[in-house]
Amino acid sequence: MKFDPASALEQAHQLGSFNGVNQAVNDSATFAFDSGEDMTACFNGELEGAFLYSRHWNPSTYTLAKALAAMENTEAAWVTGSGMAAITNTFLQICKAGDHIIASRTIYGGSYAFLKNYVPRFNIEVTFLDTTNIEEVKAAIKPNTRLVYTETVNNPMLQVANIPELAKVCKQKNIKLVVDNTFTPLIFSPANLGADIVVYSMTKFVNGKNDTTAGAICASEEFINSLLDLNDGTSMLLGGVLDSFRASNIQKNLYTLPIRMKQHSINAAYLAKRFNDIGLKSIYPGLKEHKGYDVMTSTMNSDYGFGGMIAIDLVTAKKASKFMSLMQENNVGYLAVSLGYFRTLFSNSGKSTSSEVPEEDQKKMGLSEGLVRFSVGLDHDIEATFKTIEKCYNQVK
Ligand code: PLP
Repeated sequence: MKFDPASALEQAHQLGSFNGVNQAVNDSATFAFDSGEDMTACFNGELEGAFLYSRHWNPSTYTLAKALAAMENTEAAWVTGSGMAAITNTFLQICKAGDHIIASRTIYGGSYAFLKNYVPRFNIEVTFLDTTNIEEVKAAIKPNTRLVYTETVNNPMLQVANIPELAKVCKQKNIKLVVDNTFTPLIFSPANLGADIVVYSMTKFVNGKNDTTAGAICASEEFINSLLDLNDGTSMLLGGVLDSFRASNIQKNLYTLPIRMKQHSINAAYLAKRFNDIGLKSIYPGLKEHKGYDVMTSTMNSDYGFGGMIAIDLVTAKKASKFMSLMQENNVGYLAVSLGYFRTLFSNSGKSTSSEVPEEDQKKMGLSEGLVRFSVGLDHDIEATFKTIEKCYNQVK
């Protein structure tokens, strides 16, 4: 039977204590044991079902992680205080000094900055390239390559990774394929397509409320356990865990993710088409002329549309700025970074969330200084939204 992430999520839902329909928030940093022997056994990983300390696990982070693992069809998951914690913990767990990473050039600016400026401190080498070009990936593999990193639909150019092809190359060479699925939860199930580790910024669509930062790592039990090893686990030792109150809130928001993703997709597909009709050239992977359309349609879960992200090119940063201010004044949404919110958010990527990428690499990515990234909201009347955007565009074009 076809895997459906929303059904998997629903099926994995369990009642909380006292039959509460939601899990109770577990507001404890530490947990008591019946005996010193039990505590020692827990430290040795020999006491089933016991909690020790919340930097490791807490019942609230544990239930959220279980739900995410069900959604991603991975054996296990762990939840972090931000998407960057999930990404950086994963890299640092896999790589040691002398290793090599292959990363997409087109990724979130923070991930790019970590790989470009931070990991070289540990003598880890990084090659940035176009991960949609499999031949380029193959040619860059070295004996010390440990991982390939890509975003499923990337930020901000919305290129689509061919995960099965990347997975094939990685498996042949015994390299881990790490996929950031932040833009496309439910739309893609990267682990089913062969990815070893799926990371999220849950700050975005997964939570959908823009009230917290959060992240997740979904992977094999072996990898999650290695992250949490008391002696040398990156997550255990760097301590980037998610708070239990936030974990509980995010878990409740998870069950509306399927309907939210569908509506984000419907609204974005409508706007992308109408933008093109008025000569406002849009990049959207749901348009047939998009380069990644065929890869997307052949690898996606078909029930959730093509996602809520659109990029349009206003050519100059000045025009982009005026356009965004006008849209905010006219209540289209907010001139703010981030995405996956219930209202539309827009930002000029080259001057904000991709500003860490040097100009020369922005050019290689094809990122114009006038590119405006839209995270399309859940607008009830998207036709009215379009008309307002058109009015704003007419004032700047
Ligand atoms: N991955 C992607 C694709 C992002 O867009 C972002 C943030 O903008 C991140 C990761 C980082 O997530 P966070 O801000 O939750 O640390």
